[in-house]
Amino acid sequence: MQPNKSSFSAKVLEIKTLFRRLPTLAARLLEETLVLIYPPMCAGCSRTLDAEESTLFCPDCLTALDLISEPYCPLCGIPFVAEISKSHLCGDCLGGAHSFDRARAAGFYQGLIREVIHRFKYGGQTFLLKPLARMLVVPAKDLIRLHRIDTIMPVPLHYRRLRQRGFNQASLLARTLGPLLQIPVDYFSLKRTRWTDPQIGLSRNQRAANVKGAFSLKSAEKIEGKGILLLDDVLTTGETVNQCAGVLKKDGGAREVVVLTVARTVAG
Ligand SMILES: [Zn+2]
Ligand SMILES: [Zn+2]
Repeated sequence: MQPNKSSFSAKVLEIKTLFRRLPTLAARLLEETLVLIYPPMCAGCSRTLDAEESTLFCPDCLTALDLISEPYCPLCGIPFVAEISKSHLCGDCLGGAHSFDRARAAGFYQGLIREVIHRFKYGGQTFLLKPLARMLVVPAKDLIRLHRIDTIMPVPLHYRRLRQRGFNQASLLARTLGPLLQIPVDYFSLKRTRWTDPQIGLSRNQRAANVKGAFSLKSAEKIEGKGILLLDDVLTTGETVNQCAGVLKKDGGAREVVVLTVARTVAG
């Protein structure tokens, strides 16, 4: 008997689809096996999380996270800790102090958030990448609602710092966040050409002078006319991202540059 031609081609299609999905299936199988061997742990206190807990922090640690909520400056995102009922432009933004168009951070650089960032960045606990990247989704969506973002760009490290640390925390965050937001990541167009000392302990003016001229473009090709989301782990005075935004706009012709960080410091 002649095999039915249409059912034969359906079978071929089915096999082809299965082969195409194999890497996904294998990855899922591997993930499920790993979950059995290493059950998910809370990123804050290492407590084993229940299977039904979809978050990466246990309920106690989740409430201990100092997340930023309104009121804050709608432009640079600096939260107002004083008793102010409404969000309004801060003094810096009224004075036009920033080269970037908007900035948001998930939380305050203190307490558990600071501790998790430190363990990730200096303690080599790179498994904390996932919970940190997940924290970025809410503020990222706020930026996406207000701006057309074409590319995510991690703040680059100088190659010497990269060699010391072994990884760029901003690049790792971008690699995880990009697929979550379905926005491509550009790791190479922006580069740090000059070595800078750590910003810690410097005054605001010293910080500005420290990072001045530290960044340049490898190529402006992917930047011109684009909306760029600049990503870093912590924002302090904002001088680093300010320099990056200036270069991206002036030298690269970026349409707009917005800034996203896991945490930010608040002076005072
Ligand atoms: Zn916990
Ligand atoms: Zn502001």
